[in-house]
Amino acid sequence: MKSNLYKDLKVFNSISKKKEPFVSLNGSNVGMYVCGPTVYNTVHLGNCRTFVSFDLIYRYLIQLGYKVRYIRNITDVGHLENDDDSGEDKISKRAKVEKIEPMEVVQKYTNEFHSILDSFNLLKPNIEPTATGHIIEQIEMIEKIIKNGYAYVKNGSVYFDLINFSKNYKYGQLSNRNFEDIINESRSLKGSGEKKNPQDFALWKKASKSHIMKWQSPWGIGFPGWHIECSAMGHKYLGKKFDIHGGGIDLKFPHHDCEIAQSKSVYGENPANYWIHTNMLTLNGKKMSKSSGNSVFANEIFEGSNKIFSKSFSSMTLKFFMYQAHYRNILDLSNDALSSAEKGYNKLLKGFNLINNLEANTKKSDFDIDKWISNCYEKMNDDFNTPMLISELFECIKFINNVNIGSKNLNIKDKVKIKKTFEIFMFDILGLINETDSNTKKSSDLIQLLIKIRHLARINKNFELSDQIRDDLLNLGIQLNDKKNESSYKLI
Ligand code: AMP
Ligand code: ZN
Repeated sequence: MKSNLYKDLKVFNSISKKKEPFVSLNGSNVGMYVCGPTVYNTVHLGNCRTFVSFDLIYRYLIQLGYKVRYIRNITDVGHLENDDDSGEDKISKRAKVEKIEPMEVVQKYTNEFHSILDSFNLLKPNIEPTATGHIIEQIEMIEKIIKNGYAYVKNGSVYFDLINFSKNYKYGQLSNRNFEDIINESRSLKGSGEKKNPQDFALWKKASKSHIMKWQSPWGIGFPGWHIECSAMGHKYLGKKFDIHGGGIDLKFPHHDCEIAQSKSVYGENPANYWIHTNMLTLNGKKMSKSSGNSVFANEIFEGSNKIFSKSFSSMTLKFFMYQAHYRNILDLSNDALSSAEKGYNKLLKGFNLINNLEANTKKSDFDIDKWISNCYEKMNDDFNTPMLISELFECIKFINNVNIGSKNLNIKDKVKIKKTFEIFMFDILGLINETDSNTKKSSDLIQLLIKIRHLARINKNFELSDQIRDDLLNLGIQLNDKKNESSYKLI
């Protein structure tokens, strides 16, 4: 673990609804489970925001010296269209529409999900378990819940018994709903369907003949409910109790409240010490969502193909835009917001790229670098406050610009510290990429490619083409220098 400066992390816990000091259960090891996507279509930028936020949390914990086991699942069965356990499985429905196997739907959108997250430079989780790969674990957990008296079997389905559960535990801690009242009220609705109580949720559903994704179980052929997969996989890889469980704020209810109920009915306690929820990305003030069609996709932004936006924006601009808001605040996507994020991000990179060439000496700097470094950690320790961190980074950029024009002094040792600190915060923690670096590299690779083509043209005595490449490059300010069998170039 790193020095004390880095140990003051406070995390907002959705259970206590307060910022709490982060104390890990197992010394320098941290277990974190984040609900992954339901892979039945392309993830939108709202989904991306949630995964970017947890990437930041993962990266920062690593930076603090923790060894993190990060689990992010893939929901590939059991997520029905409606929260009341009715409707079709989202993946089976999509398979019918696309006329392919459900597992082809899963593979297609899982691959796509990975490549979208790669474009945001997110770290991969340590384990990415799938619901269909853990049917046995889910059945075992359901059996324990039944044995403990908190679930009942009805016509080949298994339902969680909320009335029995509420005798010993509180249900709805995250969503803060008064379930005693709801349960009492809904007793009058008893008799509707198979459930003893309309609030009871499915742990296992009997499959009809036409249902495609189904498995054998002690209760007949069926498929698991949505909530049990995360409980079963979380406990399998992180044990009875782990440090962090996360997801978007819209998962608090029913998904996460149901997960807590399932874990309590097997292990007697909440599965995670800290519940972290990210707020929503909105478009025109409305939650971005797959089902309502109010969504924008990453590729549309990278290619500039969505009419809402005047031009294309890079993945790093989008990521910087997301970080300009705290992860617990709503963030609205718009052309203006992306344009100003682009300006801000470029200004940051430009400042960073100046550091190497700054003149420094042995005199004292006109900027308290140590205080600035500790401020940067302080902001991140305050529940991963990225907007405040960004404003700290800009404080230093202001100083860098002043040193560059000769109006402020920089000490040589501080120059090294500034560079190192920027690298840690911009690249290791925020996971940004120095696009100016990568563009420069791409340009020089392209010039080398043209030199190669020109060389081949000369071997084939196609002097017209080889001269044209030389002249066109010269017009772009790139002068080729022909030696015997190779060419070099210089920028003029
Ligand atoms: P889903 O595939 O619908 O289960 O969503 C995957 C993740 O994205 C979950 O953690 C959701 O809470 C999150 N999510 C869904 N919509 C949004 C949104 N508009 N903004 C931020 N996160 C979202
Ligand atoms: Zn989940």
